[in-house]
Amino acid sequence: MARRSSIELKSAEQILRMRSAGLVVARILQTVREAARPGVTTIELDGIARERIAAAGAVSSFLGYGGGFGLPPFPAVTCISVNSEIVHGIPGDRVLADGDLVSVDFGVSLNGWHGDSAITFSVGTPDPVAEALSEATRQAMWAGIAAARIGGRIGDIAHAVEASVRAQPQGYGIVAEYTGHGIGTAMHQAPDVPNLGRPGRGELLAKGICIAIEPMVTLGSATTATLDDEWTVVTRDGSPAAHWEHTIALTPAGVWVLTAEDGGEAELRARGVRFGPLGE
Ligand code: MG
Ligand code: MG
Repeated sequence: MARRSSIELKSAEQILRMRSAGLVVARILQTVREAARPGVTTIELDGIARERIAAAGAVSSFLGYGGGFGLPPFPAVTCISVNSEIVHGIPGDRVLADGDLVSVDFGVSLNGWHGDSAITFSVGTPDPVAEALSEATRQAMWAGIAAARIGGRIGDIAHAVEASVRAQPQGYGIVAEYTGHGIGTAMHQAPDVPNLGRPGRGELLAKGICIAIEPMVTLGSATTATLDDEWTVVTRDGSPAAHWEHTIALTPAGVWVLTAEDGGEAELRARGVRFGPLGE
């Protein structure tokens, strides 16, 4: 991924613009989730998102992505990754089946500012093993978000994500090749935000930093492979995977989860973390 080398710190006004983009992302993801059920194709879900982007006056962050650096341009506005697909699944004529574990990754820019978020859910009758994997991934994302504070380090987040997954008794895998990232005037910026690491290491978390935190967790081995379409990343052992992501900002007041409808207030307060909205 092309990354800027320096970290773009945002003003309060810029963070408010990113919140607007984040809310568009949150609401469209929710719409896609509500439309997903057995018998629906992944390209139909992408079409719903595409219509909603236009209605919101936003621009897809994903459509055409990658064409500038050696990958085929990404052909859709969502990444939809089913069961053993981890990330970057291309929507198509795949029909969702009862019990499928579906990850939808979605990003837009609004007035030049990006939001990026991913959710994982079951369609039809949930498989309890897959549901537990998704819930552990969601918890790991929130553990990482809760570890972010001004004056801290990227490694604090990475360590918190890793420790949260390792605390589960199932022996889940943590995908290391793909990371979270800075975000702002581009979807992918410095710094990388790994899902494994040591506290106190890595870049400083300064006021106005905006990052996407996105653990990818597997039921079996975390070894990955990429399909012939050059995008879809799968588990090599065929085990299911889950992916959760939010875009957050660090403000003087605390953490603001820009792609959560409530700004992250409920999850942050439950963890004793300062909730830091601006102007809300
Ligand atoms: Mg994403
Ligand atoms: Mg991302």
